Amino acid sequence: MKTEIREDAQRVQVEILGSGTSTGVPVLTCPCPVCTSEDPRDKRLRCSVFVRAAGVHLLIDSGPDFRQQAFRAGIETIDALLVTHHHFDHVVGMDDLRPYLFSNRTPIPVHAEPASAHALRDMFSYIFRDGTYPGVPRLEMHDVRGPFDVISRESPEQSVRIIPIPAVHGSLDILGYRIGRFAYLTDVSQIPNASYSLLEGLDVLVLDALRDRPHPMHMTIEKAVETAEKIGARQTYFTHMSHEILHQDFEERLGEGMAPAYDGLTFEAQL
Ligand SMILES: [Zn+2]
Ligand SMILES: [Zn+2]
Ligand SMILES: [Zn+2]
Repeated sequence: MKTEIREDAQRVQVEILGSGTSTGVPVLTCPCPVCTSEDPRDKRLRCSVFVRAAGVHLLIDSGPDFRQQAFRAGIETIDALLVTHHHFDHVVGMDDLRPYLFSNRTPIPVHAEPASAHALRDMFSYIFRDGTYPGVPRLEMHDVRGPFDVISRESPEQSVRIIPIPAVHGSLDILGYRIGRFAYLTDVSQIPNASYSLLEGLDVLVLDALRDRPHPMHMTIEKAVETAEKIGARQTYFTHMSHEILHQDFEERLGEGMAPAYDGLTFEAQL
């Protein structure tokens, strides 16, 4: 099934490819009410989003469900992969980018926070270090040290500016990304004060909200709501949700301008 999206170069068009925590929801072997819910919004693949802006196509994270997500969203081109961090649920589908290089051999840049980039070079050494295996996807790793541009691989005159948002995920430094008036921030336990100024004037924010019980690496729902209020985007969607929260219950708890994300949700922001 293909999602029909008319591209508008002046808008940031976003599709939630996955809204679930690292196990996905339903969790294998779990008989709980969320895992057995018949609401399609309770079926959460691993976290990822696809972004179209200024004729440029960006994938944020490529987890274990990427191939399936790409079919569902009808993703035909990818100009860059933006990595939030190197945890399994965000990167292990990276090799599945290979078909996007079959007809256009221009390498796909991968942007990651320097420590994550280092870890990824080790995890995928046959891509980033050896370069001898013939089936290797042509991906080029870039350490993110500040704002950067992504150029369209089809039409190099088109490009879009990416603002990295430094954040903290337990003991790990991770990155969120801002494109125009849209920002994506998953797997965060804390947002440093200096990052708040990068999050001003947002139309849409997507923010981590794992569950109600505390977790050392993620925001609870309570903290996520508090953080969303402080950032003040016109609309906030919560993501990386566990099987401890039913979509409908979560939705009913939230005030105006806040809602749980779900797989397949699409929205737009100003560029
Ligand atoms: Zn995660
Ligand atoms: Zn469950
Ligand atoms: Zn993580």
